[in-house]
Amino acid sequence: MNEFDLIQQYFSNIGPNVVAQSSLQLGVGDDCAIVKPSDGFFQAMSVDTLVADVHFPAKADPTLIAERALRVNLSDLAACGASPRWFTLALTLPEVEPNWLKAFSQGLQAAAAQFDIALVGGDTTRGPLSITVAVHGEVAPGQALLRSGGRPNQLVYVSGSLGDAAAALQFMNKKLSATQQDAGYFMQRYYRPEPRLQVGGVARMVSAAVDVSDGLIADLGHICKRSDIGATIDLERLPLSPALQRSCSEVQALELAATGGDDYELCLLVPETGRSQFEELAAQFGLPVTLIGNTNRHSGVQCLYKGSPHEFTTTGFTHF
Ligand code: ADP
Ligand code: MG
Repeated sequence: MNEFDLIQQYFSNIGPNVVAQSSLQLGVGDDCAIVKPSDGFFQAMSVDTLVADVHFPAKADPTLIAERALRVNLSDLAACGASPRWFTLALTLPEVEPNWLKAFSQGLQAAAAQFDIALVGGDTTRGPLSITVAVHGEVAPGQALLRSGGRPNQLVYVSGSLGDAAAALQFMNKKLSATQQDAGYFMQRYYRPEPRLQVGGVARMVSAAVDVSDGLIADLGHICKRSDIGATIDLERLPLSPALQRSCSEVQALELAATGGDDYELCLLVPETGRSQFEELAAQFGLPVTLIGNTNRHSGVQCLYKGSPHEFTTTGFTHF
């Protein structure tokens, strides 16, 4: 199979009715993709690369690798309050393996259909397995959620639960034991993170946002830095899944939740005056949120455990 047959067979029809989309003037197969953004909207763009054995085990199920590759990118759109529209895929493969490609494209199709985003182009090369997805979304002018919008004396929220994906990695590395059911849950959380796109519905109540990819302390730290504020979080308030609570000690669970990456939940700042309206809207849009702390005039993120300062030896993942 040559490169062009491969692209035609596996990547020419991924996403919601790609061919019929009136916003898509030109998709896979030409030199460029040409799309028509909605009138009056700004375009949001983000790109993320997933490298085998850095971001996922090379031997992992290709369906799950594809799901993860698209979902982590969609999480960046969510963190900006943007809606998904189009994506491109740069795929580097060690070899052409039809079963692998079929499973990979099925995973891609499942996530693309679920989140309503169309594959419009890409690049295919030979080399060590790596997957680069670039997502394009839309956001109304003035509605984008930024890391820099935070102010002192605001409330810090997180969506969903934290620490589950880090538990999955520990489980894969045999550093954590769990029942089959709990381990299955952790693996789902790692491979199929939930991009919290519902945040668009509550965006007007949110002053700053970031997605938790490297770890809560690290990512909230990015908001603090960009907003020139500090934050205090109460560790005992961190939302932990029942599976995480069952599978490790409280200390271990809180450490995973505070410093473990890969959950792709959102960390959101909300002015105190907006508290009840924010919580009502979040419930209405199906965004589970937990209040975990406050911002202040200092700098950096401080953790309290039952009122006393607590320090972790690591704050989050970095590549270098
Ligand atoms: P070029 O020579 O201009 O770089 P390519 O030969 O790389 O073009 O790609 C041919 C067409 O196939 C282009 O429309 C490109 O966007 C698309 N394409 C290549 N690889 C992929 C992929 N992995 N997924 C989706 N579309 C792809
Ligand atoms: Mg090319």
